[in-house]
Amino acid sequence: MPDKLLDCLVVGGGPAGLTAAIYLARFRRRFQVVDAGRSRAALIPTSHNHAGFPDGIRGPILLHRMAEQARRYGAHVVAGSVTQLSRREDGVFVATVDGQRIATRTVLLATGIVDREPDFPGLPDAIRRGLVRHCGICDGYEVLGESVGVIGHGSSGLHEALFLRTYSSNITLLSLGRPLTLSADERDRVTSAGIEVVEGSVEQVVIENDRIRALALRDGDCRSFDVLYSALGSDARSELVRGLGTQLDGKGCVVTDEHQRSSTDGLFAAGDVVRSLDQISVAMGQAAIAATAIHNRLRGMALPRDAAGETLSFSPQNLCDCGPATSGPP
Ligand SMILES: Cc1cc2nc3c(=O)[nH]c(=O)nc-3n(C[C@H](O)[C@H](O)[C@H](O)COP(=O)(O)OP(=O)(O)OC[C@H]3O[C@@H](n4cnc5c(N)ncnc54)[C@H](O)[C@@H]3O)c2cc1C
Repeated sequence: MPDKLLDCLVVGGGPAGLTAAIYLARFRRRFQVVDAGRSRAALIPTSHNHAGFPDGIRGPILLHRMAEQARRYGAHVVAGSVTQLSRREDGVFVATVDGQRIATRTVLLATGIVDREPDFPGLPDAIRRGLVRHCGICDGYEVLGESVGVIGHGSSGLHEALFLRTYSSNITLLSLGRPLTLSADERDRVTSAGIEVVEGSVEQVVIENDRIRALALRDGDCRSFDVLYSALGSDARSELVRGLGTQLDGKGCVVTDEHQRSSTDGLFAAGDVVRSLDQISVAMGQAAIAATAIHNRLRGMALPRDAAGETLSFSPQNLCDCGPATSGPP
């Protein structure tokens, strides 16, 4: 079993997990990336704010290039889900991946978040076409002067609408049939920014001819927009570490220090699952810090292999028999 003990298990193969893979491979660490294949970056039609790509870059292409870069140094992404994570008394983590178990000295959680989506037909296609968007910081510049609807029930909708006011004077805040939970002060801010509020009446959203048409079924009112921003919030994919007693913030994001260390010894986190600006560059930066901290933590122990160029990343066939696991905090 000791020769099958990983230095690191990277959970998630989005921009954070793949950046960590590039670094860990170049640090010649014995590690594995396991990815369930639902990166938010895969939904990006074209990113224009990611530095280094003056013509923009499509999310799936960026992911593909990063995986290829990691592969060149011997890293290997296994498609699958980590369904359980525990920590033994000796500090070794044991992860369950599609029924098999992996023992590892450290874990990097790079599992991201899940957007809460409005419920209407054709949503995935609308996201791919850039008709429904999620992040004014990412692509607000691309809606300059357009008519923009923002879906949101509370202050997240308000903040997105106010943010997008930089790019358009034609902003409507929609609650899709639910009451808007804004304070009097927040309502004043909306009014003084010239943002229209459509509350309670919109019950269905449909797409027609490359435009978003919001149907107000109850009163016959009908609105159409060039673009709709969804500001319904998101959920952190941190359920794996709840059983470890790892400190999470009020939104379920992993709390980390400046080295991306969580409150559980040996567990690191990077990317959207950590409370920060949910951006590719941030995910990459945090992953670079985490991978380096992991390497430094393990440095001093013998390198797993001496031969240069040898593949250090494990294939699924090499997953180990890790012995009995204990769940919960050590
Ligand atoms: C439509 C859209 C447009 C965007 N545009 C931009 C933009 O232009 N610029 C920008 O900087 N950012 C943009 N973003 C944000 C950007 O996509 C995220 O900040 C980035 O993807 C975060 O990377 P991550 O690695 O933390 O998480 P993710 O990319 O979400 O990757 C997490 C990965 O972990 C996997 N995973 C989760 N749980 C498990 C598990 N238990 N086992 C195995 N694998 C697991 C998931 O399946 C997923 O593949 C956009 C987001 C969206 C939705």
